[in-house]
Amino acid sequence: GQLGRMLGLAGLPLGVDFVFLDPAESPCATFVGEHLRAPYDDPDALAKLSAQCDVVTCEFENVPAGVFDILSPTEPHPAKQALHIAQERAREKTAFEAVGIPVAPWRCVENQSDVDQAIEDLGLPLIAKTRTMGYDGKGQQRVRAPEDATDLFEQLGNVPLLMERLVPFDSELSVVGTRAVDGSKVIFPLSQNVHRDGILHRSEQAHPDQSLQRQARKHFAALTDSLNYVGTLAIEFFVSGGLLLGNEFAPRVHNSGHWTQDGMPHDQFENHIRAVCGMPVGAGSPYGHSGMINLIGQTCGVEDLLGHSDVHIHLYGKSPRPGRKLGHVNVLANSASTLRERLNDIAAHLDRAYQAQAQQV
Ligand code: ATP
Ligand code: MG
Repeated sequence: GQLGRMLGLAGLPLGVDFVFLDPAESPCATFVGEHLRAPYDDPDALAKLSAQCDVVTCEFENVPAGVFDILSPTEPHPAKQALHIAQERAREKTAFEAVGIPVAPWRCVENQSDVDQAIEDLGLPLIAKTRTMGYDGKGQQRVRAPEDATDLFEQLGNVPLLMERLVPFDSELSVVGTRAVDGSKVIFPLSQNVHRDGILHRSEQAHPDQSLQRQARKHFAALTDSLNYVGTLAIEFFVSGGLLLGNEFAPRVHNSGHWTQDGMPHDQFENHIRAVCGMPVGAGSPYGHSGMINLIGQTCGVEDLLGHSDVHIHLYGKSPRPGRKLGHVNVLANSASTLRERLNDIAAHLDRAYQAQAQQV
């Protein structure tokens, strides 16, 4: 997908060539390297990948576990363990707790009597989530009253669930950073994230107090060191009462780190490629105040932004479809308040263009 494409675009200037394994007919990374079209766990394709490449990495966490054994002896980064943990929410929360990252109180639930017990133990309101394969808020249901929980398993596909306290958060922040082979790290400033219909809409470089930045750096270091992680990783947090609560992590480059492409001397994609190839990661200070708006479902109105010198357009070459991420725009400003204003104006412009187009259809 687009993450693979942007990893490739960032790696080419470093002299890295790419081969992409993707079952899609025409993935958007095709123009950046060779495309092997096969299922992710196809033994022949994996053997070919292993033979052709010095390094294997991935841009999504749901890589089937067996892939790693077939790839051997080419050691993929991130390693199997990090993906194994990130694929299942109970393992993920346990990994957070093991390194001292606070989380909302939670329980695994397998049947209705577990659900009743969880409501009694944790109190309401709660949120129920499928333990695997959740994304963009899918596979979740809020439980505000006991009657909301009577058909949870039917609603969520009769799979094992987890229930956790609904956090009355002040905001959602994420930390994105990269850990190199030698354990050194480049950790970007926190991003503040706003979702629309469960999909990330907007991220901007957050300017919270130093305590939150310190907590984020500490949590990033603790988690990635415990996993001996190599590459870029993101942790999503809720901010509640001055504390960062871990929600989930992504063992890959992350949508909330896209602003680093135009806001940092070395972005999350370049640093991921550097790390997995055994190169040092690139440090540096932010150029200013940066933010990002996702182009979801359509890209109309974006051409009007070409004349704005503070806007950087990134299109993925994907065909439009409702809810699909087709591109993003990064905005660079010289103050936090200017950035906020510009993001508001640009988001409003894109919304108007979208509505005008919808009326024409
Ligand atoms: P994505 O892959 O898009 O990050 P996801 O489907 O993996 O999302 P989560 O990140 O766990 O799922 O949840 C999606 C959103 O639902 C969160 O960003 C947050 O807004 C809300 N949410 C999830 N869990 C809680 C909670 N315990 N308390 C309050 N809000 C929550
Ligand atoms: Mg999330």
